[in-house]
Order: sequence, then structure tokens, then C-alpha cells
Amino acid sequence: MSLLSLDGVSAFYGASQALFDVSLTLEEGQVLALLGRNGMGKTTTIKTIFRMVPARTGAIRFDGNDLSTLPSHKVARLGLGLVPEGRRCFAKLSVSENLTAAARPGHWDLARVAALFPRLAERPDQMAASLSGGEQQMLAIGRALMTNPRLLVLDEATEGLAPIVRQEIWAAIAQLKRDSGLSILVVDKSLRELEQVADSAAILQRGATVWSGPFVDLSAELRDRYLGV
Ligand code: ATP
Repeated sequence: MSLLSLDGVSAFYGASQALFDVSLTLEEGQVLALLGRNGMGKTTTIKTIFRMVPARTGAIRFDGNDLSTLPSHKVARLGLGLVPEGRRCFAKLSVSENLTAAARPGHWDLARVAALFPRLAERPDQMAASLSGGEQQMLAIGRALMTNPRLLVLDEATEGLAPIVRQEIWAAIAQLKRDSGLSILVVDKSLRELEQVADSAAILQRGATVWSGPFVDLSAELRDRYLGV
């Protein structure tokens, strides 16, 4: 059984349909890259998984549970951790307060997050608002890890970050996969970096899955047709 599966999911913003037919699967311990040009429905797909946007049709299953009827706060409790687009941290809370705010017992604690992101360990009392963009993304990832999820979902993992910080984030994602066997769903446009960590990929085009398969099968023709690279 797949850890996460979406089957024929549709979703709307008011009268406007954003998702038409999204289907994807993620196996335990694997990394799935969710790809597509701007506005194709990647964030909306993530929002339907976390029940921030209701799925009007289709099925969303996580570890055998039907997510499509659960309230948003119960989804997180099942073991899904979200690093949202724009890395929203609690701006007026310190680094350590952000990390402990939603913590749940398990493998991930302050010491392990500090080892993964030494930059956070150096500034436990700094307000999140005054962190750099890269540090805020590390904090957002750390905060999600502190909930001890089985599945980590990253929306725009490295968007808008300086190259050196992007490298640090990719190294952390690779380390998470290698050392803790965490399952990861990641949205990002850096195909070269995704290639190093992703097992599989799904491509969205105008709110529908148009291709999914092993990342190594993502041919130049597919990249050209759907991703414009
Ligand atoms: P991007 O890479 O630009 O973030 P995306 O693939 O994540 O794009 P979505 O943000 O999911 O795409 O958007 C899918 C469609 O839904 C777009 O047409 C977008 O304009 C629309 N949409 C997104 N959010 C809303 C909203 N709050 N209200 C109305 N329409 C929305």
C-alpha cells in the first residue's frame, strides 16, 4: 500500500476549478517531486492534501486513512508535516519558540534539528522575522520535523533563495532521506537538484496529472513539453 495516494482529485476556488484530475502516489521512504509550470495546481494539490482546500471529487488516502473527510488539524496529527510556500514562521517568536510550538515526541527534537541546521543552533533566541530567507526556510523545515511527521511536504523548497543556501537545503533533504528514511513530497523547479534526491515525479498541467513515473524516466521531451526546460 502506498503511503499517500490521490486519485482523480478535483478542487475549486469558489466557482473556478483549479484541479481537474490529480492522481499521484508516494511510497514510504521515497521522495516524490511534484512538477509543473506556474499556476498548474501544485500548491492547490498540497492544500487539498492538508484539507485547506476541499477536494470536491476523488480520493485522498494517507496510510490507509481517507483524508477527504478530515478537518485540517487532524491531518497533521496523522503524521503529515507541511513546509508551506513562503516559509511562514511565527514572525514574533524566537527560533526555539517556533521549533517547540507544535512539537510532538519522537525522533526529531531540538538537538537533532540543530545538528541538521547548525545556523539555527547558533541563534536560538533570534526572532524569526529577522532571519534571512534561507534561515527562515530552515526554521520552517525544522518546525515541520519537530512534529515528527511520516511525510514531509515542501512547497517551493528553495524558491528565491541564494545559491549557497539552496545547496544547504538540498543537502539537508538528501540527509533526511538517507539517514531517517523520511517520505518527502517536494515542489521545486530545480530539476538538476531534484534528480539527486527524487525517486519519482508527477507533472501537473492545468490542474491535471499528465505524467507520473520514476524520476529517471523524465525525458528531455517531457521536460520540454511540460516544464519548459
Ligand atoms: P505556482 O508555481 O505559481 O505557485 P502552482 O502550480 O502552485 O503555481 P496553484 O497556486 O495551485 O498553482 O494555482 C492553480 C490555479 O488556481 C491557478 O490558476 C491560480 O490562479 C488558481 N488559484 C490559486 N489560489 C487561488 C485562490 N486563493 N483563489 C482563486 N484562485 C486561485
